[in-house]
Amino acid sequence: MNERFAEKMATEQVRVDTRTLADFVSIYCDGHHKDRSRARLASDAATLGVYGRKSHVLCEECAEHLRYAEKRRAFCPRDPKPFCAHCDTHCYRDEERAWQREMMRYSGRRSVLHGHAVDGIKHVIAARKWRREMEQSAAIAAQTEREDL
Ligand SMILES: [Zn+2]
Repeated sequence: MNERFAEKMATEQVRVDTRTLADFVSIYCDGHHKDRSRARLASDAATLGVYGRKSHVLCEECAEHLRYAEKRRAFCPRDPKPFCAHCDTHCYRDEERAWQREMMRYSGRRSVLHGHAVDGIKHVIAARKWRREMEQSAAIAAQTEREDL
């Protein structure tokens, strides 16, 4: 395992974010891939105990996406990390980004509906709040611009 990865994964916020991500991937996999053969996730973060003693049960495709996302989270160049969906540092490959967006949309809504993945719900609420604030400040900026003309 990469030493820097282990170092980054020792940070509490990185661990929480990574766990939240895994909860979301797990909800997505449960909803789409129950018919596939699935196994407990084996990954660097799982080895480091980020997911506790038992990691999530995922299909190989979702496990691969999550392994990729673990690395992206660990090596995020931003501190504090913005919401990935609204970040202008494109650290995800295009197809990973598209997959992640679809997965988050599905799992974010489900976790709110079913009241599980508490960290996930907090994430969704915080993201909505952030988006609202950005829209408001954009509206104010547009208003100011009009007044300047
Ligand atoms: Zn899956």
